[in-house]
Amino acid sequence: MPPSPPAQPGDAVAAIDTPALVVDLDAFERNLDLMSNAVRGSGLALRPHAKSHKCPEIARAQVERDAIGICCQKVAEAEVFVDAGIRDVLVTNEIVGAGKLRRLAAIAHRATIGVLVDDAGSVAELSAAATAAGATLDVLVEVDVGAHRCGVPPGEPAARLATAIARAPGLRLRGIHAYHGAAQHLRTPAERCDAIAAAVRDAAASRAAIEAAGIGCAVVTGAGTGTWQHERDSGVYTELQPGSYVFMDADYGRNALAPDQHHFEHSLFVLTTVMSVAVRSQAVVDAGLKALAFDSGPPLVYGAPGLDFRRASDEHGVVAVTDTAIAPRRGDRLWLVPGHCDPTVNLHDWIVGVRGETVESVWAVAARGALA
Ligand SMILES: *Cc1c(COP(=O)(O)O)cnc(C)c1O
Repeated sequence: MPPSPPAQPGDAVAAIDTPALVVDLDAFERNLDLMSNAVRGSGLALRPHAKSHKCPEIARAQVERDAIGICCQKVAEAEVFVDAGIRDVLVTNEIVGAGKLRRLAAIAHRATIGVLVDDAGSVAELSAAATAAGATLDVLVEVDVGAHRCGVPPGEPAARLATAIARAPGLRLRGIHAYHGAAQHLRTPAERCDAIAAAVRDAAASRAAIEAAGIGCAVVTGAGTGTWQHERDSGVYTELQPGSYVFMDADYGRNALAPDQHHFEHSLFVLTTVMSVAVRSQAVVDAGLKALAFDSGPPLVYGAPGLDFRRASDEHGVVAVTDTAIAPRRGDRLWLVPGHCDPTVNLHDWIVGVRGETVESVWAVAARGALA
């Protein structure tokens, strides 16, 4: 059983116990609306990535705003979302291991389930799992469009793998997965534009090679919060997968935007309490390594440029006071914008939704720790 939530609906924001993961619902809903309005009418499908939030209520809010389904990274995440009623889930990952493949095929009886491959050996394993379960799995060829993590090279290698998938019983070739993860945090608009222009060329060449082999390639899917406008306007992609836009972390806040690029708001915070001011020029808060992810740098102290989150240990965060006019006192509460939203969410059991000064919702991070 997870520990009890840090608040209940109807509580005052001032009464939320800390540290707590808090969403500003007004900013969060504006982010959801901004993305769905910007994709609506483009002819592209929106399939947000749920690894950012791991929360069925948020997935439902996305589906209510025209998302055709969601992406997950892990089979265990997909199981949580299918159990919660999401009917179309793409696992944007290669899945290896008989047990996992059995579980993947099992949920394909209850929802449309897609998965990626970048190896012919996977095709045979997926086909065996699907036919043993009497299920059909949607399969996409992962193409390396510049991130150099997973994926076959563009063009002919993608067509060879697509041909194998199209012939395999129990599998339905849907198209290609062309996500350029390494482009998302390139800081200038020009760098991101160039990286995605190259990815679009690679995706187009792969689709052309697949079609030249006489196979349909209906889906070209990819994009994240840093680049989605480029994929949307590419004429090649058919589906967009942004995830972090719902929350906007401090790292994404460091991306420079071109004038025609949409700005999402910070909606996710770790609310924390000042425990100690015993050492001069610093405040120590109750959120450290177990409440915040630091892989993309420390959190920002929201609305307080004179406070600089310097370092963390397990349960302590040390905030330097660079402007003594705003020196926090013991018991004060600070709102921290996490450096990286996805791994921060995974540290919490609950998301407390606030509107103004009142707690409106308390959602379970139901896929927390769903790593398998
Ligand atoms: C993480 C991820 C996304 C979403 O990226 P954000 O930067 O969170 O918007 C999309 N697609 C894939 C395959 C991912 O791994």
